[in-house]
Amino acid sequence: MLKNRRSGLETFFEEYDLDAILITDIRNIRYLCGFSGSEGALLMSRGEAWFLCDSRYTAQASSEVQGATVRECSARLETLRNMAVENGLKRIGFEASHTSVSAFRKISEELTGIELVELGPVLDDVRICKDSSEIELLSTVAKLASQSLVSILHFVKPGVKESEIALELEFEMRRRGADGRAFDFIVASGLRGAMPHGRASDKAIRSGELITIDFGAVKDAYHSDETVTIACGEPGSREREIHAIVKTAHDLAIERVKPGLKCKELDAVARDYITERGFGEYFGHGLGHGVGLDIHEKPTLSPRSDAVLKEGMVITIEPGIYIPGFGGVRIEDTLVVTADGYQILTSADKQLLVI
Ligand code: ZN
Ligand code: ZN
Repeated sequence: MLKNRRSGLETFFEEYDLDAILITDIRNIRYLCGFSGSEGALLMSRGEAWFLCDSRYTAQASSEVQGATVRECSARLETLRNMAVENGLKRIGFEASHTSVSAFRKISEELTGIELVELGPVLDDVRICKDSSEIELLSTVAKLASQSLVSILHFVKPGVKESEIALELEFEMRRRGADGRAFDFIVASGLRGAMPHGRASDKAIRSGELITIDFGAVKDAYHSDETVTIACGEPGSREREIHAIVKTAHDLAIERVKPGLKCKELDAVARDYITERGFGEYFGHGLGHGVGLDIHEKPTLSPRSDAVLKEGMVITIEPGIYIPGFGGVRIEDTLVVTADGYQILTSADKQLLVI
């Protein structure tokens, strides 16, 4: 499995005429060699790979790392330089988007005689389509998060603070085996619902308000992402109307998901419907994004995205309407693109639930 992932990098050796690629982003390291710790570096030549770590991680790396030789080192850059000389590695590509300016200066100073080649986010393109083991992990974490939400909904009532709902949800996820939350949950009630990223605050829920809850868990490094908008007590007719429009836009977009469709065309399905119903100006963000080892990954689903859906992509569909001075609604599911359509991974009910 990991060997297949690495073969995705072969084209970059050719394209950039490289002798080796140095991976320093910890998620990319995990993706390529299985190491789950928080620090290390992976050096890959065309035929070999080495994982470099300090003594804190040697035992862990020895049991986790697959397809790479573990090398403990106290001065990593010095070791890297020696390895490059020993193995005749003259042109080494590095992950520019994961390297700070100061780190780059230091690497350049230490790796004298080696040509450092700035690589774009090459792993983002390799990671964009998930393999079967990743889809299984994404499916497991999505299910865990959905079930956690459903089991704490009884906790939502007038007088309860948004922050208390967020805390209860995180606790439930951890109780069910999550490693943690995927991001700071959004719990935005009443007028705060107009903020697409309204993090849970100390505001108390009032009867009749809509509450947008955007949540996700992380387990074994994979994330889930899902949003429900529910009502605490009977909502007004405008609240119901907006919820129904967002729900229909969400459903229409999901029905269209299949390989070959451009992401901007999918975005347009939801956006055109919301616009036809007179709320286009209140849907300011893109329709969705990829999910995996990061909560936001490629592809981006927006009016400007030329990316094309492919089998194995895991994406969110999350249209919303946000009206300043009134409130808002967002509905989000995460799904995997299959050979002939899609499979939804998140499972909380998206109908307007009145509690
Ligand atoms: Zn979300
Ligand atoms: Zn999302």
